[in-house]
Amino acid sequence: MFLPTTMKEVKQLDWKRLDVILVTGDTYIDSPFIGVAIIGKVLVDKGFRVGIIAQPDINSKKDIARLGEPALFWGITGGCVDSMVANYTALNKRRKKDDYTPGGINNLRPDRAVIAYSNLVRQYFKNTKPLVLGGIEASLRRIAHYDFKSNKMRRSILFDAKADYLLFGMAHSSIIKFATALKNSENPESLSGVAFISKEKQGEKIPSFEEVKKSRNQFIKSFDIFYKNNDPITAKKIYQQHNDRYLVLNPPEPYSTTKELDHIHSLGFEKDVHPYYKKRGHVRALDTIQFSIPIHYGCYGECNFCAISVHQGQTVRWRSEKSIIDEAKTISRLKDFKGYITDLGGPTANMYGFECKKKLAKGACHDKRCLSPAPCKSLIPDHSRQTRLIQKIEQLPGIKKVFINSGIRYDLILSDKKHGGTYLKKIVKDNVSGQMKVAPEHTMPHVLKLMGKQNIDLLLKFKNRFDALSKKSGKKQFLTYYLIAAHPGCRMTDMQDLKKFTTQKLKITPEQVQIFTPSPSTWSTVMYYTSIDPFTMEPVFVEKNSARKEKQKQIVTKKYRNK
Ligand code: SF4
Repeated sequence: MFLPTTMKEVKQLDWKRLDVILVTGDTYIDSPFIGVAIIGKVLVDKGFRVGIIAQPDINSKKDIARLGEPALFWGITGGCVDSMVANYTALNKRRKKDDYTPGGINNLRPDRAVIAYSNLVRQYFKNTKPLVLGGIEASLRRIAHYDFKSNKMRRSILFDAKADYLLFGMAHSSIIKFATALKNSENPESLSGVAFISKEKQGEKIPSFEEVKKSRNQFIKSFDIFYKNNDPITAKKIYQQHNDRYLVLNPPEPYSTTKELDHIHSLGFEKDVHPYYKKRGHVRALDTIQFSIPIHYGCYGECNFCAISVHQGQTVRWRSEKSIIDEAKTISRLKDFKGYITDLGGPTANMYGFECKKKLAKGACHDKRCLSPAPCKSLIPDHSRQTRLIQKIEQLPGIKKVFINSGIRYDLILSDKKHGGTYLKKIVKDNVSGQMKVAPEHTMPHVLKLMGKQNIDLLLKFKNRFDALSKKSGKKQFLTYYLIAAHPGCRMTDMQDLKKFTTQKLKITPEQVQIFTPSPSTWSTVMYYTSIDPFTMEPVFVEKNSARKEKQKQIVTKKYRNK
C-alpha cells in the first residue's frame, strides 16, 4: 500500500484525520531503500494514520495544506541526500539533474530543505503540532557543524529550523516510541535517538557552538566526543550549548535486530513511485532501486569522508535469508521485472552475515578501527552466508541473474582465508554486470591514511585475482575504480603520482574521479575546515581553490592529458 498523499486517498482508507504528515525533499518512492517510506510504513503498522507530501511548493499553501493538519506531529526530511549536497557540486555549482525528482530536473528541492519545509509548515499552520526532523540532512547537521556552501560553522539544524525534536539515525524503532509518547501525551525527551532543545544542561558537555565557531581545536574536540557517543551500547547523553540554550542528544536508538528488520521488510512496499507523482515524469533513482534488495545496514569501513557510520552506525545488522528470499520472490512477480535482480547489497556489498563479537557485546572500539589500516584480528570475515544467499536466489523461478552492484570491500575478501576465494570466484563468474565497483579512492599512502583507507598493495593483489578469475570464466569484465581528488592532504603532485599508478599498474584512465565534498559530520570535513589532522593534531595541506581542485581531477582524466 502507498501512503496517502491526497485527501481522496485518506478518505478511501476511511481515515478521518492523519496522525502524522511526513514532508520530504524527494518524490515519494515506496521502497525499503527510501527512509521516509520506511518511517511511514512502520508507523502505519503500529496503527498510526500517516500521509506524505513530497517536494511541496514552498511558495504557496497548495501542497503543504492539502492533507490538513496532523493530530500528532509533522515529520520533516530533506530526503535521501542532504539537500545542499543534492543541489550543489563539489565546486559549489548548482546541479541541473536530480535522480529523486520526476523528470530528472533539479527544480523541486529547495536549498536547506529541512529548514525550508519547517518554515513552510509554520507559515500556513500557526501554533501547529510539533515539528519533528529526521533523515540524513537533519541527522548529520544535528550538532554545530561546518557548512561548505556558506563556508561557515552553523548551529544545530534544530535551532535553524525552529523545530521541536530531531530523530537521528535510521529511527526505525525510535519513531514508534516517539509517536506513542505523543499519543499518550507523554514527554518524549527521555527516548533514545531523540534530540531536543533544553533550558537545562543534560549529560556530558561538548564544546558550545560559540566555542567551535571561535576555535578549530574546540571543533575537533566537539566532533570527537560526538563521534564517540554514537554507539547505542556505549553512548552517553551529550549536550552542546548554543547561546543561552542547550542542544541535548540522547544516546542513539538500539540497533534493529534481524527479526525487526525482517518485519520492516514485510510491510508491503510497492517498489514504485506513487501514482500522484509518477505521472510527472520518470524518476531515475527507481532504475537503481526498484529491483534491488537491501540485505544489511550499517558499515564499519569508517572511511573518513563518509557519513554512513554516523547515520547508520558502525555495527552491521542483517536480514534473515528467508526475508531476503521472500523479497526476491515478490520482485519476481512485479509487472516490469525482466528477471534481473540489480543489486543484493548494502552500504558495502560484502558485510552480510558476520560481525565482531566484541563489538556486539561491548560496542565499537574507540581506540582502533575494524578495517583500517588493516582488518582487525577480532573481525572474522565469513562470506559463506552471502555466497549461499546469492545461490538460493538464483534458483528461484523467474530470476535469471543476480547482480552485485554495491561497492566491494576487497580487503575483507582477501582476509577471509576460508570463504573469500569461493565468494570471489562465484561473483566474478555469475554476478558482475561487466564491471565490478571498487573504491581505493587514492593510491598515495599519506592521503589514504587521512581517508582512513587500506593500503594500496591489496588492490593490486585483488586485481590480479579478479583478472585471472574473469579470464578463467571466459568473461570480458573489469574493475571500476572510484577515486577522490582534492581530499585533505592531497596535492597536485599526489594526483600526478596517482595518474602514474593508474596508467602503469592498473592500465586505465580512470573515469570515476570525484572532487571531495566536505559534507556535514565527517572526519574529512573536520580536516577540510581546520587544516588539522584530528588524529595527530598535525597541520594538513587542504586545497580550497576551486580551479585547482578541478585541475587535481583533470590530472587523472583524459581531458587533462589531451591539453
Ligand atoms: S575489536 Fe576490532 S573488529 Fe571489533 S570493534 Fe574493535 S576494531 Fe572493530
